[in-house]
Amino acid sequence: MNATAAVLYEVKKPLVVEEVEVLEPQAHEVLVRWAANGVCHSDLHVMTGDVPHPLPVVLGHEAAGVVEKVGPGVESVKPGDHVCSSYIPSCGRCRYCINGEPTLCAHRDKPRWFMLDGTARFRKNGRPLHHYLQVAGYATRSVVLEDGVIPIRKDVPLDLACLVSCGVLAGAGPVINRAKVPVGASVAVFGCGGVGLNSIQAARLVGAGKIIAVDVNRKKLEWAEEFGATHVIDASKEDPVAAIHTLTGGGVDYAFEVVGFQETVEQAFLSTRRGGMAVIVGICPAGTRLTIDPMLLVQQRTLTGSSFGAGHQRTDVPMLLDLFMAGKYKLRELISRRLPLAEVNHAYDLLQAGEVKRSVIVY
Ligand SMILES: [Zn+2]
Ligand SMILES: [Zn+2]
Repeated sequence: MNATAAVLYEVKKPLVVEEVEVLEPQAHEVLVRWAANGVCHSDLHVMTGDVPHPLPVVLGHEAAGVVEKVGPGVESVKPGDHVCSSYIPSCGRCRYCINGEPTLCAHRDKPRWFMLDGTARFRKNGRPLHHYLQVAGYATRSVVLEDGVIPIRKDVPLDLACLVSCGVLAGAGPVINRAKVPVGASVAVFGCGGVGLNSIQAARLVGAGKIIAVDVNRKKLEWAEEFGATHVIDASKEDPVAAIHTLTGGGVDYAFEVVGFQETVEQAFLSTRRGGMAVIVGICPAGTRLTIDPMLLVQQRTLTGSSFGAGHQRTDVPMLLDLFMAGKYKLRELISRRLPLAEVNHAYDLLQAGEVKRSVIVY
């Protein structure tokens, strides 16, 4: 069978949208017809070469769709089920999963661009194509691991549901699961794009007090206010660390870095109070190193990170969709543009220009 897919053959070159061959799902694999895939920055890191990756690769890792076929031994989903992709599949049996840290699952020890048997289910002219993060959502259909799909309720439009497969959970999870921000706490969010806006709205949801949004883009700061920021800081005009210390009388309880630069990671850490916590969500280019004063750690600050929401993706994704359906979580407002797969390169131009919260490629 075939699919239309966006393939990266060479870094710093546009994606090629073309017909590719899709092989049958094998044991514990699922064939999904994707309905939509959100345009996330992580794919861009691969396109620019900031994060090295084997090529050619079918990108996309923020997808939602309908199960078309299941391979032998698949028990948790059946054809017709609606699913979100999980770019961190969880096996449920390894020490991480058993200890309640399924976003760190042992599946991550294997190459994440093939199925678990080390082979691809895409072919082009007889040559295998890699599956980005075992999702490959920039394809009208792809084979994924059974452990890499999350069944969801059928009444959520799939072009909204796909956002939860990365940006929403990656942004909200650090607030809810990693920092466990308590009512009234002060929060700073560095970076107010499609992921950071979710850290902001999660902070609002859990009842944070001051929610301070930091960005260099005026439009993004306006979005931040719409999503619940109580204060905004334009880091192109003033030093955000000094401004946060002034606003909070000594630093925030929790800072979230959702950009992925050395400077913003260090700023997020420096903006915390004694005993505060900084959580890194952004993906820094390979080779990035931090410079921090260890004395600030002695003062009981925590510098940590969050992978795919740092919680339980199998229950967190449905939970966030329930909150959306109950009118308590904004998804619709996250989408600035809907584009066809043929315009996927344009979608990345818009992302780089900082002109969109999230774009969604719809099939
Ligand atoms: Zn992503
Ligand atoms: Zn596991």
